[in-house]
Amino acid sequence: MGAQTFKPILVTRSTCRICGSRALSPVVSLGDQYIGGVLASEDGEAFIKRRVPLDLVRCDPSKDENACGLVQMRHTVPPKVLYHKYYYQSGINQSMRDNLAGIAALAESSIELNPGDIALDIGCNDGTLLSSYQTTGLRLLGIDPSDVALMAREKGFKVVNDFFSARAFKSAYPEDKARVITQISMFYDLEDSPCVCGGHRFQFAGGRDLDFGAKLFADHAQDEQF
Ligand SMILES: [Zn+2]
Repeated sequence: MGAQTFKPILVTRSTCRICGSRALSPVVSLGDQYIGGVLASEDGEAFIKRRVPLDLVRCDPSKDENACGLVQMRHTVPPKVLYHKYYYQSGINQSMRDNLAGIAALAESSIELNPGDIALDIGCNDGTLLSSYQTTGLRLLGIDPSDVALMAREKGFKVVNDFFSARAFKSAYPEDKARVITQISMFYDLEDSPCVCGGHRFQFAGGRDLDFGAKLFADHAQDEQF
């Protein structure tokens, strides 16, 4: 798989990711850098050989009274580039395993889960969070575009190896709805916020009811820019 597989590998934003304002003012430029997290293949060949600009901009209220003030990257590396060969594994250290187990426990203590209920983890990674549920008989579903998600599948979880969407969910369960949804450190990769997922807007609050009858438990510790 070579670099030519991914086009484009860079998108330049002309509007703010949150409010859509075009008033993006430069904050700092760190020059052209290699894309962190896009690893080389086993033979050592880099998938992405070029550097890309690392520029920070602000949605500038001094230029647009409706601008929201969000500080954000000028450019976007498309998710397909970032996740085709991923490196991070949720279960790789005890502190993260404990953290994810705590989120699953919070979900289980907050709502009544019964055998047959669907628990969806968006960005399930290696399945560590899914494996933390104690309720027996749950239908555990992970949706994740990365190659690491195949580890969750190997653990026996149902996995849709794709980006999250209503279509992706329905490919697994066409008629049913999730009872509980978790997402960990995912919103920072979204181009539009608040995200629209199958026509339903997520609100950024842990445990808030969604209008499709599930509860969302989200860890935003790394999502602060949104
Ligand atoms: Zn804005």
